[in-house]
Amino acid sequence: MSSTGIVYLVGAGPGDLGLVTFRAKELISTADVLVYDYLVHPELVKWCRPECEIVYVGKKAGFHSVPQEEIEALLVKHAKDGKKVVRLKGGDPYIFGRGGEEARTLAKDKIPFEVVPGVTAALAAGAYAGIPLTYRNTSTSLVLLTGHEDPNKTSPQLDWRSYGALKNTTLAIYMGMGNLPFIFAELIAGGLDSKTPAAVVQWASLGRQRSVAGTVTTLAALVGKSGLAAPAIIFVGEVVRDHEAIDWFEHLPLFGRRVAITRTRDQNSELREKLETLGAEVLELPLISITKDTDRLGFVEILAELGGYDWIVFTSANGVRFFFEDFLKGFPDIRALGLLRFACVGKATAREIESYHLKVECMPDTATGESLADALIATGSLDSAKVIVVTGNLNRDVLVRKMEAGGAIVDRLLLYKTEKTDLTHDPIADDFREKGADVILFASSSAVQSFNEQAAALALAKDAKFPLAGSIGPQTTETMKKVGMAIAFEAKKPSLDSLIEALIKNLKAKR
Ligand code: SAH
Repeated sequence: MSSTGIVYLVGAGPGDLGLVTFRAKELISTADVLVYDYLVHPELVKWCRPECEIVYVGKKAGFHSVPQEEIEALLVKHAKDGKKVVRLKGGDPYIFGRGGEEARTLAKDKIPFEVVPGVTAALAAGAYAGIPLTYRNTSTSLVLLTGHEDPNKTSPQLDWRSYGALKNTTLAIYMGMGNLPFIFAELIAGGLDSKTPAAVVQWASLGRQRSVAGTVTTLAALVGKSGLAAPAIIFVGEVVRDHEAIDWFEHLPLFGRRVAITRTRDQNSELREKLETLGAEVLELPLISITKDTDRLGFVEILAELGGYDWIVFTSANGVRFFFEDFLKGFPDIRALGLLRFACVGKATAREIESYHLKVECMPDTATGESLADALIATGSLDSAKVIVVTGNLNRDVLVRKMEAGGAIVDRLLLYKTEKTDLTHDPIADDFREKGADVILFASSSAVQSFNEQAAALALAKDAKFPLAGSIGPQTTETMKKVGMAIAFEAKKPSLDSLIEALIKNLKAKR
């Protein structure tokens, strides 16, 4: 008989991945079942283990969300099957998230459960839109309200007028966009000064955040004009007054820009973080995936003669990782590497080698295979030298050929394969198809090729924004040209920072 599992009611925060708690991440990445809904960042779902069962219970265009009772029954059923269930909700589970109802049901059915709080939307909207929710002397209390009540109720339960009578108070209204003129009229009828500042913040904390500010008299018209809609928080109170002066987020250089990135899932995270720190909305389109695929025989042969080699050359951090995984299985002592010298193509690869306390003796200034070969030749040690080149299934022909021309005897060691992914049913790709992006960044030829081959699956809708294409370096640019892509900019140096610099410069020039 299986013992009862457990349900975690987990807050996913307002949207930005950095605002998810450690506890939430830990639970998502160990769950057996994940039940999530609308307003949960799709990226979070990717933290699940491959065997985790993922259930979406939110709204979808044209469909209603799964009824609350059904969701609760689902949680109970999986827990009774002995599963570790994570019920993920936007913001905080106990703030307008029906978490209380779910907890009651679990308690009633004697299912063990735990609640993990999250950053609720009002807190995020305040922080990211320059609205401190309390302020010495002018706002000494904060009220969280819902503008959307149970549709089965016959008359409004909320007495808006009584909130209009509160002094020195910030009101943060959730789900109120459909009722905004009514709410403001009631607040004023209750005694609120008609000049009280008010603001709306949509998609708080995300790159697509938008906000408008005015007063309770002017805001409804401003919102109508700007097209802002749910999900948004409406703020009412003196604290909105300094919103322009202390806003930091909407002034970031890439704020409001949609940037599509195309590296592998693992590689994307660093680029995503850099872009999001600059305010961009990032769409990850992992067009390629890299998996370990060791040429066993080749590896054994090379290991048997390791002492006879002079150099080992790595062209990617993955190559280093895969090499040591297998090497250390055969030789638990790193000294078995003997006097082998290390060369690599770029900084990320060097960092990976150095993490084993090994020195990189040759790295070119420009991160290309060609420059690496030149740098190795320039060491004067290549003539008659035996060299291992760790590669994937996509050959590094130029590198090998150049080294051979320099007198080296080169053995390739195949350790991984780069494959094209299929984004036909990817939710982020859906978003890309529907709305497009300001920019799409390419950091490898294989991503360009994969993009080109998936062109039909990634075709943009009629009104979608056609993105400018940026390239990380000459090799990628070359491939982009080959497939007929127009290149808007190329990084000065093949590094992520340089790519981002070129992107900002290019967008600025177009403003
Ligand atoms: N439990 C959630 C609230 C769920 S109710 C929380 O604690 O935040 C859904 C409402 O939350 C939306 O209609 C909107 O008013 C608000 N909301 C959620 N995410 C938001 C965001 N990123 N920006 C602005 N409002 C948001």
